[in-house]
Amino acid sequence: MSESFDLGHGHTASFTSWAPDRELNPQYADLPDVNLWGVVIDHPWPDGSPCIGSAATFDGPVVRQIDPTRPVWTVESLDPLTLSPSLLCRGCGDHGFIRGGRWVPA
Ligand SMILES: [Zn+2]
Repeated sequence: MSESFDLGHGHTASFTSWAPDRELNPQYADLPDVNLWGVVIDHPWPDGSPCIGSAATFDGPVVRQIDPTRPVWTVESLDPLTLSPSLLCRGCGDHGFIRGGRWVPA
């Protein structure tokens, strides 16, 4: 899935999916594909250059099974998208919330 949508404030969200090659990863043979795995948030550095260091993995049974210690986000609403808690970029320090399909600076 490559659908992306504008959140405002220069932020664009792109959904990610999880669909491993099970011939190469037989440990995942019993797990289903996850179409809505998470989002990547494209956003600018203060100087305007692009930063893609911000991403959220949605909470769900598959991620809990394969990576129990990974931080996950609760999807309070999918359309419009509302996630909790907030997202903090590891690249540029950008911090904010996705609420009602919009970026809300923290
Ligand atoms: Zn960033």
